[in-house]
Amino acid sequence: MSISSLLERNKDWCESCESKDPSYFSKWGTSQAPEYFYIGCADSRVSPDLAMNLPPGSVFVHRNLGGLVNHKDLNVMSCLEYALVLGVKHVIVCGHYNCGACKGGLLWGPSDGPPLTALAVADVKAVKAAHQAELEGLPTDQAWDRIVELNTLNGVKNACMSFPIQNAWKEGKPLAVHGVVYNPADGKLKELAGPITGPEDMKSLPSA
Ligand SMILES: [Zn+2]
Repeated sequence: MSISSLLERNKDWCESCESKDPSYFSKWGTSQAPEYFYIGCADSRVSPDLAMNLPPGSVFVHRNLGGLVNHKDLNVMSCLEYALVLGVKHVIVCGHYNCGACKGGLLWGPSDGPPLTALAVADVKAVKAAHQAELEGLPTDQAWDRIVELNTLNGVKNACMSFPIQNAWKEGKPLAVHGVVYNPADGKLKELAGPITGPEDMKSLPSA
């Protein structure tokens, strides 16, 4: 599809939104106060607002390969920090089944994959290494599903341990962290962990 076709589609969409609600855009134009911060994979099949059936303005979003939460990643950490400035009450780490980044982490050897992708996927490989015995006992398809879940739980743990969230909890701010996984095959979200509302709750986090 050409860019001019996309612009035409955009025009149609604007008209359609405004015909249903004349204030559709003007009400979002000046500020945002999202309730949720979503961290997930860049996968084209996963659309957080659509999957959660929420309108614009509800979800502050960060996406990367595999939905990774790494303390050394300035992009995810700065988005997390700013989400808390905006006043989000829930941080949702969302993995998804059939995730290519997680499959790379499960199956790629040391020299496999495009180099920068392989660098990102190294985080998933570390999750695999931590759960080698469990994953080796599973058929490949089940191991792929499981590493998606383990990678998501690892992201939840890293989010909880991050400076912005630890600081928010120290200041007594109401903030819950959740781990969920999305299934592109049926559109359903499944809860994996949470709500984690403070350091004490982290004890209930499944091993990641
Ligand atoms: Zn993915």
